[in-house]
Amino acid sequence: MSKRKTMTTTAGAPVSDNQNSLSAGPRGPLLMQDYQLFEKLAHQNRERIPERVVHAKGWGAHGTFTVTNDISQYTRAKIFSEVGKQTPMIARFSTVAGEQGAADAERDVRGFALKFYTEEGNWDMVGNNTPVFFVRDPRKFPDFIHTQKRHPRTNLRSATAMWDFWSLSPESLHQVTILMSDRGLPVAPMYMNGYSSHTYSFWNEDGERYWIKFHFKTKQGHKHYTNKEAKKIVGESRETYQEELFGTIDRGEFPKWGVYVQIMPEAEAENTPYNPFDLTKVWPHGDYPLIEVGEMELNRNADNYFAEIEQAAFSPSNMVPGISVSPDKMLQARVFSYADAHRHRLGTHYEALPVNAPKVPVHTYHKDGQMRFFDNFAENPDAYYEPNSMNGPVEDESYREPPLKISGDADHYDHREGNDDYAQPRALFNLFDEGEKARLFSNVADAMQGVPEHIIERQLVHFHKCDPAYAEGVAKALGIKVPDFAQAS
Ligand code: NDP
Repeated sequence: MSKRKTMTTTAGAPVSDNQNSLSAGPRGPLLMQDYQLFEKLAHQNRERIPERVVHAKGWGAHGTFTVTNDISQYTRAKIFSEVGKQTPMIARFSTVAGEQGAADAERDVRGFALKFYTEEGNWDMVGNNTPVFFVRDPRKFPDFIHTQKRHPRTNLRSATAMWDFWSLSPESLHQVTILMSDRGLPVAPMYMNGYSSHTYSFWNEDGERYWIKFHFKTKQGHKHYTNKEAKKIVGESRETYQEELFGTIDRGEFPKWGVYVQIMPEAEAENTPYNPFDLTKVWPHGDYPLIEVGEMELNRNADNYFAEIEQAAFSPSNMVPGISVSPDKMLQARVFSYADAHRHRLGTHYEALPVNAPKVPVHTYHKDGQMRFFDNFAENPDAYYEPNSMNGPVEDESYREPPLKISGDADHYDHREGNDDYAQPRALFNLFDEGEKARLFSNVADAMQGVPEHIIERQLVHFHKCDPAYAEGVAKALGIKVPDFAQAS
């Protein structure tokens, strides 16, 4: 056996005794000069960083994205430049509401965050396993999240708060219906789809813009737990997603997703009957069919979960030439708030951590700050401001995004005909077979336990507007009389 390495302090000095503190005598007291003891305790005290306010519990892995179809007429993004091209990436999946110690198999929306290390910088896609979201305006986001988290007095989750908010926010019905359907409780990350949810944009070499939505379709098939199955699973293990994702990849069985994009020419956004930038809406496939783009495969576990998954920092502000934002109000807010959350959680230089660092050279003029451990970006140390005549890095206008034409008043899109909150949940409800509908009703009824009657009745009105059978099914599952909807609405 080769000689074992000598243990050291963080300053690299050999440690002579790691079993006994330096002591004045066999019964103590201890000596102030035992800096190795202090170092050990001080490090332990600092092992935790703030967990994410949302999406705290997560599971992830490294992987590869491969282009299988040429979409370069829509985007100049190098990641899509040729069929067969491969780009390294990392994925982190998560539940929204649970804290870091929460059980994996809980009914909740799943985060589906991806970072692609492209040759023109990192492109992040911070999606969910649902194509829509609960609210369309970021002013409502912190309130919504408060209803998912703990009550300030009881420190317990509150079904009353959730249904109070949802019943007062009809735009949430689409996402609530997905959450309470079979797909609201996947068996593990590889058995669910991912969606950009937001509308983003592509722009090509000719300066033409397209509105786009990404879809990541599981190649493992959809698998879900019923509430009853999940209850049993959680009783046996709270870590089923980590076990399954880590174990599968460790065995060399690599989960895959087909990557697709829906594409809308820029001008068409003025004419769709629904607001194409409303995060509570999908684009029907009949109008905008899925166009194949490539395949995503997860094929390498992290060696250090904390360094590579907990510290992985995804943000929609990470865009590359050819991929950009859209007027989607929720996306506009996330472009700010995600990077802001990482600066708070990980520090100013979070992008320089190995898992977040791009695989291409970085040339900014940012300076100093806590934990600035990397070299000057410019080869010439005199070029530490900009503009300069010291041969420092300069802007390149060939990367400028085409200008966005804005029209209409500020609320323009929200007033268009057909922009109702019931048509798309209805289309989804109509996709469900009788078994799926029965499980939807009982999942809603389970989630409404303990909620005051007036809130339940307000929510039943929304179900009724979606489809009378939806309200009747839920009322029956709750064991209550169906209210007089003619009066209520
Ligand atoms: P389509 O019939 O063309 O597409 C249905 C979509 O719904 C597919 O993406 C399918 O995903 C997904 N789906 C199928 N069964 C379920 C289910 N039980 N729970 C959740 N999703 C399911 O219809 P439209 O495009 O016209 O959309 C109809 C409704 O389908 C929408 O209102 C929306 O609620 C839902 N939907 C639509 C999506 C879209 O981007 N258009 C995406 C996802 C859902 P898969 O192919 O993986 O089975």
